[in-house]
Amino acid sequence: MDFNLLFGEAIVQSLLGLISIILAELVRDIYHLAGHYWKPLQKFHNLHHKAYCPDLTMTSLEVYKKAQWYNDVPESMVMVTATALVAQLSHIWAMWLGCLYSLFFLIPAIARSQGFLLQTDLTHKPGELVEIPSQWTVNRTYHWRHHFDQGNAYFCGYFTLVDKILGTSLSLKGKVVAITGASGSLGQALIEELLLHKAKVIALTTNADACFHEKVEVLHWKIGSETDLMPFLKNVDILIINHGVNVYGNRSAAAIQKSYEVNAFSALKLAELFFETVTKSSHRALKELWINTSEAEVNPAFSPLYELSKRTLGDLITLRRLDAPCIIRKLVLGPFKSQLNPYGVMSARWVSRAIVALAKRDFRNIIVTINPITYIAFPVKEFFQSLYFRLFTSKKEQSQLMS
Ligand SMILES: [Zn+2]
Ligand SMILES: [Zn+2]
Repeated sequence: MDFNLLFGEAIVQSLLGLISIILAELVRDIYHLAGHYWKPLQKFHNLHHKAYCPDLTMTSLEVYKKAQWYNDVPESMVMVTATALVAQLSHIWAMWLGCLYSLFFLIPAIARSQGFLLQTDLTHKPGELVEIPSQWTVNRTYHWRHHFDQGNAYFCGYFTLVDKILGTSLSLKGKVVAITGASGSLGQALIEELLLHKAKVIALTTNADACFHEKVEVLHWKIGSETDLMPFLKNVDILIINHGVNVYGNRSAAAIQKSYEVNAFSALKLAELFFETVTKSSHRALKELWINTSEAEVNPAFSPLYELSKRTLGDLITLRRLDAPCIIRKLVLGPFKSQLNPYGVMSARWVSRAIVALAKRDFRNIIVTINPITYIAFPVKEFFQSLYFRLFTSKKEQSQLMS
């Protein structure tokens, strides 16, 4: 037989095999959703939620075994049945891979329900959370949030696709969200949007006359005294760094100083202080830093000092991302109407709605702009710059050892 034909066939069958595994995981996630929203399954799925303590040790072996028998075993049986049906009806032999894959979950689940092979429960491995939530597949920290942050979010079992579609990759309900630049157009619009998603909002403002929604806690601060905010930052789940200054065409020494002080160094100082508050295992799962670096990272803003200082911030955040103890989301925003930019085309309200919708789908680089170039240029810049930083820098401990 022609080699090329054989090679082509192998690729097609591998792809179909992969699709059957994704299908098995989709079935798992749908079964999980049914466990939360379909009454007949709820009491069985509740056992799963009752089986674990916050450090993911089991509450009791009896409850754990019951949870495996009434939740995990039927879940894997549904996966096996659904994938077998698809393979049988489609007459595609590669589709049986999904069925085999599902059996790899069914057999250990049966064993665990009898008290054996307990260490095979990898998503619920007991102990401290060491990683930040992963983006495309579910790690322990990702799933921990389903148990101890918000039961009606973070549903996915392995691939995070379903949460991204449903907008359940991040729950803002009850989260303490602090935002700087709160009195600006975007700050005000974001506060409104966050309140709609039931977050508890703290407005950090340098503007003494600013007015806010009655539900918002207001905190006055000033550039240069970031450290004073430390006691408040400890209780903040999500910090949104959104303050900035635009000196437009001014190129005086004072304008340079001010641009860098406000747009780059004050923002970076706050980010570092926030990282210091990530002290507990649960913080790795819950704390997030959102930072408005702006589209000026990759495009002209027709205000050179604004661009230069925002780019510095963006670049340093790319560097810090390599070791950050919590999720960092960059807000890469195009021109919206504000005091800084009266010519903006998008409305701050619309931009804030898009930011929250994308964050709830776990976008780590939230690009909202009408400029199509940014959607291509930004990810390319971020990827290569991150790679460059990874190659030519190392963690503090290592460089100290070398010197
Ligand atoms: Zn659940
Ligand atoms: Zn679980």
